[in-house]
Amino acid sequence: MIAGHFGFAALVKSREPTAPLWGLMLATVWLDVAFIPFLLLHAESIQPVHPGYGGLIIHADYTHSIVGMILLGAVLGLAFLPRWGRRAATVVALVAMSHWALDLIVHRSDMPVLPGNVGNLPLLGFGLWKKPGVVAVLELGLVAVGTLLYWRAARQASITAGQSGNRAGVCAALAALSGILVLYLDYSS
Ligand SMILES: [Zn+2]
Repeated sequence: MIAGHFGFAALVKSREPTAPLWGLMLATVWLDVAFIPFLLLHAESIQPVHPGYGGLIIHADYTHSIVGMILLGAVLGLAFLPRWGRRAATVVALVAMSHWALDLIVHRSDMPVLPGNVGNLPLLGFGLWKKPGVVAVLELGLVAVGTLLYWRAARQASITAGQSGNRAGVCAALAALSGILVLYLDYSS
């Protein structure tokens, strides 16, 4: 779901120019970045259940629990507070938390409410990964809409600042290409 998350980052950037694009892109995958050390420490794991993209149950009981998502989002937001101010920091925190909402759509009922799935509450996830074609269209749509809106906003900002809109076009094209490349790698593996 990396491509979809990046598409969402571009979409947010078009609405909220004060937050840096790289910060928003980091925020959209922040829970997965946090997942890596937990994976290496065997505190979280990936269980293949089906060949192909999304054929996984992800036991990310800390980073992808509701409480973990809120804590991780808050930590990242706080890191942006001194340099970018309260508004951008809040947006970064919310975007980090939005990762969980997008994951909720695709994950196969593997996301707990409490860290470590304390209390054995029902696991969450609508399991759209069972239909990889639908997810591909959804992610491609996010990349297309996100980069298009980003391009429009960035070009307008450049023109307002008396510069040419070419740089915005190059950035948007690069963002779209990297989204499509990630999607291709996901589906060809
Ligand atoms: Zn995730």
